[in-house]
Amino acid sequence: MTALQQPLAPEQRTLIRDELLRSLTKLERSMAANGAAARPRDLEQDTVGRLSRIEALQSQGLTATLAAREKVQLEQIVAALRRLEEGSYGICNGCGAAIPVERLMIFPETLACSTCACS
Ligand SMILES: [Zn+2]
Repeated sequence: MTALQQPLAPEQRTLIRDELLRSLTKLERSMAANGAAARPRDLEQDTVGRLSRIEALQSQGLTATLAAREKVQLEQIVAALRRLEEGSYGICNGCGAAIPVERLMIFPETLACSTCACS
């Protein structure tokens, strides 16, 4: 096996994994809540006036935007957990350098160091 740069101490890996799992649980709960909230509005469509109907549609649009963003976040977190398992976690996909631990603690799902993320 090639010597992969492993910038994280075992206890840091544990901390980050816990953080990722916490975010994952929170996201899943939020997505489930959104899914439940979207349904009753559909059933009310016949009874609401035209204006409220437009508002309802706009609100659904916002929910959809939020849901799409949450889905992306979910995928990023799952991908980060996979990299953590594979040992490729914490390596910048832009320059290949180790991402500083302080950055990983703040953005555990990040793929790039701050230099590459901003360029
Ligand atoms: Zn980089």
